[in-house]
Amino acid sequence: MRWMVIVAVCLGLCPASAFAWGRQGHAAVATLAQKNLSPEALAQVQVLLADDLDRNEKPSHRKTLASVASWADEIRDIAQPDTYKGWHTRANPVCSDRLGACKDGYCVDRLIIKYAAILRDRSQPARARNEALKWVVHLVGDLHQPLHSGVNIDRGNIPAGIIGGEVKPGTTFHSLWDIDVAVLALKGGPLQGRLADAKPLPADAPTQWMKEARDVARSSAYDTLPGFSCNTHLKTPLMVDDAYMQQAAATARKQMENAGLRLAHLLNDSLQ
Ligand SMILES: [Zn+2]
Repeated sequence: MRWMVIVAVCLGLCPASAFAWGRQGHAAVATLAQKNLSPEALAQVQVLLADDLDRNEKPSHRKTLASVASWADEIRDIAQPDTYKGWHTRANPVCSDRLGACKDGYCVDRLIIKYAAILRDRSQPARARNEALKWVVHLVGDLHQPLHSGVNIDRGNIPAGIIGGEVKPGTTFHSLWDIDVAVLALKGGPLQGRLADAKPLPADAPTQWMKEARDVARSSAYDTLPGFSCNTHLKTPLMVDDAYMQQAAATARKQMENAGLRLAHLLNDSLQ
């Protein structure tokens, strides 16, 4: 239950960048993925996590995908500012088919592709494959948070709140989706789903997932806002109503379930 304390303490206090789906969301995605691993992939995950290290390079004793799912956020939070800038997102405009910039390949979809290749390559050092596993687990979750894959000109970075509630200091449209929407989405209990597909994934599958999440950002995060129009700044603080939150939570839950099953598919494919 530690995540509940962390989420409660951080609501409104922690910087928006600290979470992305929140620890709870990332753990839920990873738990669904682990339930859908093939026996071969599960055995390799156990080997890869056997000597896992925490962000201070000390033994973490973490053995499950859920327990390592937020490591990528943890290392960012103690790194020099901007060390991992852009790694967890890609600012694809929601009002265009054009993809956002990906400087030197450091953006969410391209990094998943890069780390999945390291994971697949058994000649890579064990530590590199351990860290590649943790990156893949985290970033597949992030990519499915619609605002990690699609934004309007505000980039989600505007003060926001829920009508009838207070505008909590530090809450932005982005962090509303990361935390408030995610917590609401998971009130329905553990994520559900069974992976039926064992076909090899195309190499660019993460980019396809990202484009789909970009379209979800347009349809569910932006089009449903009062007064939204393309490439126009929204009035701030952006206040959303309960109906908005309910539809956002239903969308977020579907996105997290897709993330969990696709993560399992990618790991099964990479760890045969
Ligand atoms: Zn992240």
